[in-house]
Amino acid sequence: MVSRVIPVDPFDLVLFGATGDLAQRKILPALYHRFEVGQMPEQARIIASARSDMESHAFREHVRSGLRDKPEVKAEILDRFLERLEYVAVDALGETGWNCLREMLRPDVVRAFYLSVGPGLFPEIAQRLHDHGLATPDSRIVVEKPFGHDLESAKALNEGLRRCFEERQIYRIDHYLGKETVQNLMALRFANSLFEPLWNASHIDHVQITVAETVGVEGREAYYDRAGAMRDMVQNHLMQLLCLTAMEPPSKFVPNAVRDEKVKVIEALEPVEPGDIARGQYRPEKGGDGYLDHVGNPDSRTESFVALKVHVANWRWAGVPFYLRTGKRLRARESEIVVVFRDPPHTIFPNVGHLHGNVLVIRLQPDEGITLSTTIKDPGPGGFRLADVALDMSFAEALGGNVRAQDAYERLVMDVIRGDQTLFMRGDEVEAAWAWVDPIVHAWEDSRDRPSPYDPGSSGPEEALMLMHRDGRRWRQIGG
Ligand code: NAP
Repeated sequence: MVSRVIPVDPFDLVLFGATGDLAQRKILPALYHRFEVGQMPEQARIIASARSDMESHAFREHVRSGLRDKPEVKAEILDRFLERLEYVAVDALGETGWNCLREMLRPDVVRAFYLSVGPGLFPEIAQRLHDHGLATPDSRIVVEKPFGHDLESAKALNEGLRRCFEERQIYRIDHYLGKETVQNLMALRFANSLFEPLWNASHIDHVQITVAETVGVEGREAYYDRAGAMRDMVQNHLMQLLCLTAMEPPSKFVPNAVRDEKVKVIEALEPVEPGDIARGQYRPEKGGDGYLDHVGNPDSRTESFVALKVHVANWRWAGVPFYLRTGKRLRARESEIVVVFRDPPHTIFPNVGHLHGNVLVIRLQPDEGITLSTTIKDPGPGGFRLADVALDMSFAEALGGNVRAQDAYERLVMDVIRGDQTLFMRGDEVEAAWAWVDPIVHAWEDSRDRPSPYDPGSSGPEEALMLMHRDGRRWRQIGG
């Protein structure tokens, strides 16, 4: 299948924090790929910016050295892409560079400001963009996660941004929403009539959402030890996956209709009972370091793993538990949503034992795709036996073997230029998520309990397994 590329309008994209890790590893490569396929027009310009004093040609060489060794990057196209890049030194907290930046911007093209900097700088940059006359009524401002540390700080960030930009101009990134499979979850639910009639408490036994990582906290120690898995992953990524799985069909696929339905899911979440949560911290590896060594704090009570049983209190989901888990140093890198349907109500086949429900697995990584387990007759004569087989669709195969897997940032950056906020979080959505997370985290902070240790390479602490076992259910094996 050949993907259709419609070029976006010419734009000036100002990338703050352009020398940083995220810009170099994700945003600039994403822009290169959109240029390569012809979606980023020749008249588009990227104005990179950070505090460091540097000429544009030095910045281009810096970007070239990061991109040129990637097998998928073509030297001739890279040269043409780099011509689109300028660099200007701007101090977000001072007055340096702002006038120069204003003079570089063109009046008649889409204007977007991408803040790939720490959240402490969001209100500062927004204010200076406004004060120096750079923010026009149609410009867009893009901000990265983490969007706050709790409800209060998220409100302060929202207020800081809204002083200078309207909500329709603000793009809060959760890169999970840019993943193909996550968008496919909406297509699966709302472009097929097969699943929607079954998508409720009458037919679904429970849902599991897992985001497992094999890496530890190296490189992000100080930030992570202040945040933990609940703030770093559950408040944003897992919450978004939960929303898209549980939401009602929006009346239209337009930003506010989709986001209204997501907010309703978050607002319907019941407070979580302390007994429905398992927290963990990874132990030292043989001869190596564990979480406490990595963060350099033997008394840290921050969780590197969390599992929760969550209820969405509405008609569709009454009584259906959603089990969420995420953690570091687990046995495999894997993100998936698992929808477990109810068992068949009656067995007509003799001697086959208990029949179990179908399982729909929506894989986000690795190898994006969808699997539906079905029960069929085991082939051959001699008795009637049943076997489970998976209807397995890998998107890479289904959409033509050699299609390059697109990074989520490619989609999201182009959506900003197109002015489509559907895959970005609205301010009230972020605040609603924090309002649900805050009491859980505050209760941990007030208690002296420590997270349970778990072995690196495992599926997390024993308590997480018990969370399901005591309900007569079991997690799908991570990496299985
Ligand atoms: P980083 O590597 O520390 O880069 C920060 C950038 O901000 C640098 O370019 C730095 O350049 C610039 N900067 C710092 N202070 C500045 C100031 N006063 N004025 C202007 N520029 C300033 O951080 P990062 O990892 O790229 O992360 C950026 C943001 O994305 C953070 O909010 C982070 O939480 C978020 N994020 C990162 C990742 C990731 O994988 N890295 C993933 C998700 C979200 P100078 O020092 O030259 O000014």
